[in-house]
Amino acid sequence: MSDSFDVIVIGGGPAGYPAAIRAGQNKLSVACIDEWKNPDGICAFGGTCLNAGCIPSKALLESTELYHRAHEEFAAHGIKAPDVTMDVGQMQKRKAGIVKTMTQGILALFKAAGVTPLQGHGKLLSGHRVEFVAHDGTRRELTAKNIILASGSAPVELRSAPFQSPQIVDSWGALEFPSVPKRLGVIGAGVIGLELGSVWRRLGSEVVMLEALPDFLAVADGQVGKEALRHFKKLGMDIRLGAKVTGAKVAGEAVDVTYTDVKGEQKLTVDRLVVAIGRRPYTKDLLGPETGVELDERGFIKVDHQCKTGAEGIWAVGDCVRGPMLAHKGKEEGAMVADLIAGNFAEVNYKTVPSVVYTAPEIAWVGLTEEQVKAQGKAYKVGVFPFLASGRARRLFHHTSAVAGRSRPHRRPHGGRSARRRHEPRGRGPYQGWAGGGVREGGPRD
Ligand code: FAD
Ligand code: NAD
Repeated sequence: MSDSFDVIVIGGGPAGYPAAIRAGQNKLSVACIDEWKNPDGICAFGGTCLNAGCIPSKALLESTELYHRAHEEFAAHGIKAPDVTMDVGQMQKRKAGIVKTMTQGILALFKAAGVTPLQGHGKLLSGHRVEFVAHDGTRRELTAKNIILASGSAPVELRSAPFQSPQIVDSWGALEFPSVPKRLGVIGAGVIGLELGSVWRRLGSEVVMLEALPDFLAVADGQVGKEALRHFKKLGMDIRLGAKVTGAKVAGEAVDVTYTDVKGEQKLTVDRLVVAIGRRPYTKDLLGPETGVELDERGFIKVDHQCKTGAEGIWAVGDCVRGPMLAHKGKEEGAMVADLIAGNFAEVNYKTVPSVVYTAPEIAWVGLTEEQVKAQGKAYKVGVFPFLASGRARRLFHHTSAVAGRSRPHRRPHGGRSARRRHEPRGRGPYQGWAGGGVREGGPRD
C-alpha cells in the first residue's frame, strides 16, 4: 500500500468522512484515519455523530415519541391500545442496529470513492507528514500534499460533578441506559439535555434539569424559548433555571447533588445524573512539534473562512474549529475543503446553517435571533404564524405552537414604505386573529 497520498484526513466523523469521499470523487488519492472504538471493542467510522450523537439520539427520540403518543394521543384518534408497554432492551437493540448499518455504510461509500480507510491514531508532523499508529500498534509514516484535520469534540466535564459511570454520565452514557432511571438529573438545559431529557421523561423518568442561565434556551428567540419551556413543563420536565451546581456525590446507587439558586443552597437526589454542559474541541496528541498549526485560547484549531490553518496545505474542519458544533456544518466544511483542494470553487455560507432541537414539537432556527437583531440596533419585523391555524400542525399535535420569522423591512429603492406595509396595517397581519399570530416591528424607526 502506498504511503503517499494527495489528501489525508485525520478523523472520520461527519466532517472528515464526507471530506474524504468528496476528495475521492474529485479523483484525488485519499486516506482517512480514524481511531473511534465502541465499548464492544469494534472500530467504526462516523465519529460522535453516528456512534454516540445524532444518530443514536434520533433513534431513541423516535422510539420514545411513538410510545408517548400511544399513551397520550391514540385515544383522541379512536385508537384503543391500553396495554402499550416499552421493552427498553429492544429499543436499544434497534438503535444499535441503525448505528451499525450507518457506520458500516461509510466503508461502502469509501470503497466506491476509492478512499483508503485506516483505523488507528493519526498525528500531524511537520513537512506534510502524518504518523499513523494502527490499533495493533503498527507504526507508519505517511505523506500528503494536503492534510485535513477533523478530530471533532468531546464532552465538557464539570469539576463539581466529575463523570463517574454508571451514576454520573455524559451524553453517550445517557444514550446507553439499559433501563429507565426512576429519578434522572440533567445538568445543562441545552440541546443534549432537552433531547435526552425528553427521551427518558417520555418513558417515565422523573426528570429534573439544572440550568445555570436564568433564561431558557437562550440560543433561540426569546419567544420560541418561552413557548418551548411551556411544552417541556407540560411533558412533566422539572426545569430549574439559574441553578449553579456546587457538588455531586455518588452515594450507593444514587447521586446527591447540591446547587444554589435564587433561594440559596438546594439539594437533589437522583438515580442517574447526565452532565450536558457543552462540548470542547478534541485535539489530544493530534499535533506534533513545528507543524505551524495554532490553537486559539479555547482550544479550537485556528482557521480562516475557507478552513485553512496557518500552515500551507493543512486544513481543519468540523467541531475542532470555530462555529456551531453541528454535523451538517462539519460536512459542508469537509466538502468545501475537498473541492478547494481539487481547484474547484467552493464556500460555506455560515449565515444559513440551521439548528434543530429534535424534541416534540421540534424547535428550529436559522440566522440571528430577535434579541441579536435588537442588540445590533437594526429595524426588523417579526411574523408569527400560530400552529393552531395550520391544519397540518393540528393533525400532528393537540397543543399549540408557532412559527416565527424575522426580516429586515424591505425598502423600496427610494426609501419609501415596504410593499408589505402597504397591505398590512402596522402590527397586523393575516393571522392576527389567531392567538399569538401577526406581524410586529422592532428596532429603531426611521
Ligand atoms: P466527530 O464526530 O467528533 O468525529 C471526530 C472523529 O475523529 C472521531 O471518530 C474521533 O475518534 C476521531 N479522531 C480524533 N482525533 C483523532 C486522531 N488523532 N487520530 C484518528 N482519529 C481521531 N449535530 C447535528 O447536526 N444534529 C444532531 O442531531 C446532533 N445530535 C447530537 C447528539 C448528541 C448526543 C451529541 C453528543 C452530538 C450531536 N450533534 C448533532 C453534534 C454532532 O455529533 C457533531 O457536531 C459532529 O459529530 C461533529 O463532527 P466532526 O466530524 O467534527 O467530529
Ligand atoms: P449546549 O451548549 O447546547 O447546552 C449546554 C447548556 O448547559 C447551556 O444551556 C448552558 O447554559 C448550560 N450550562 C453550562 N454550564 C453549566 C453549569 N455549570 N451548570 C448548569 N448548566 C450549565 O451543549 P450540549 O447540550 O452539551 O450540546 C453540545 C453540542 O452538541 C452543542 O453545540 C450542540 O449544537 C450539539 N448538539 C446538537 C444537536 C442537534 O443539532 N439536534 C443535538 C445534540 C447536541
